[in-house]
Amino acid sequence: MSDSKIESAKTGRSKCRKCREGIAKDELRLGIISYQFDTDGSWTWYHLPCGAALNPESFETAVQEFDGEISGIEELRATARIAARKNLIPRIEAAPSGRASCLHCKEKIKPKGTLRVVVEREVEDSPGLTRPGYLHVGCALRFVEAEGFREEVLANSDLEEEQRKIVAAELK
Ligand SMILES: [Zn+2]
Ligand SMILES: [Zn+2]
Repeated sequence: MSDSKIESAKTGRSKCRKCREGIAKDELRLGIISYQFDTDGSWTWYHLPCGAALNPESFETAVQEFDGEISGIEELRATARIAARKNLIPRIEAAPSGRASCLHCKEKIKPKGTLRVVVEREVEDSPGLTRPGYLHVGCALRFVEAEGFREEVLANSDLEEEQRKIVAAELK
């Protein structure tokens, strides 16, 4: 059974998990099932634009399985593509807090808002399991030696022109 679907709302009672607004009866909605609290699974619902922005992978899967017309599908897919890009690894992002430590120099990456490099690293003793690790931009190439890493991380990152220039200068 799939973990996401698009359907028209059967009632006008569901609320969008992202924006908290109601979803009108018969409006198309994205449903994502979770088995966290309920072995039968419980559905959470989203307006299509909200779901595409928040859960781009589930949205894309649901679109492929939905056989009907979705108005504004091109725009929705573009939203999902941009959102998916935000989750790419490696990438550069603004630190949401000043709490993470740099994998290379072990210093905190702060203050909040400092640009940092996000990489994937293996969880010790759990082969195949990875979690994100963080690096100062200036430390990244000292820690990661993979060829093409610099180009990849720049391509994956959603940066403003000015930030891109600073990062490109620091990333060496
Ligand atoms: Zn919404
Ligand atoms: Zn560092």
